[in-house]
Amino acid sequence: MAKLYFRYGAMNSGKSTALLQAAYNYEERGQHVLLAKPGIDTKDADRISSRLGMTRDADFLIRPDDDVRALFAAHRARVRRDAEALIPADDAAPVDVACLLIDEAQFLTRDQVDDLLRIVVLDGVPVLAYGIRTDFQTRAFPGSRRLLELAHSLEELKTICRCGRKALFNARLVGGRFVFDGDQVAIDELSADRVTYESMCAQCYLRESGGRLG
Ligand SMILES: [Zn+2]
Repeated sequence: MAKLYFRYGAMNSGKSTALLQAAYNYEERGQHVLLAKPGIDTKDADRISSRLGMTRDADFLIRPDDDVRALFAAHRARVRRDAEALIPADDAAPVDVACLLIDEAQFLTRDQVDDLLRIVVLDGVPVLAYGIRTDFQTRAFPGSRRLLELAHSLEELKTICRCGRKALFNARLVGGRFVFDGDQVAIDELSADRVTYESMCAQCYLRESGGRLG
């Protein structure tokens, strides 16, 4: 039975690396996968990049108003057509998409995550969604909140705080200074000062924030 998986973590917990590795594992067995990501992340458009230097283009982007199930169905049909063009259908087992992998899943809307569950249950294709659990104010992103509610399987990808404890939160720095107010999404290019993030444990976060949580 296909399942909806949510693999979440703080920033820099290797989510894109894990996604690209999962895609590779499927393809090494001769299976087909589709990679998608929300279009809100304008920093490098449709590219999925891991901090280790691996990159790969997404097969499709998901805009805020997109119907994810319809988009997936169109790309699934394309994969089947392309495969049949290469190999006559009666000479081989029918080709299908073995898995849909989603990068930056925190930026999906609630309705789009609902569609992921429909793809899994009604269309029979597993979905692996990777994303950040909470924003810089420790609040769940909309897509992550819905994934935590719906996923068959939750897996935390861990990374370490500067103090050595497991990081839970993502503190925002603007021009090298911690800030605890602002929009949920800050894109580098739109900001006069450079916005960066540091993955932190709860102890270090509360020390920097003076006890504030969002
Ligand atoms: Zn810490």
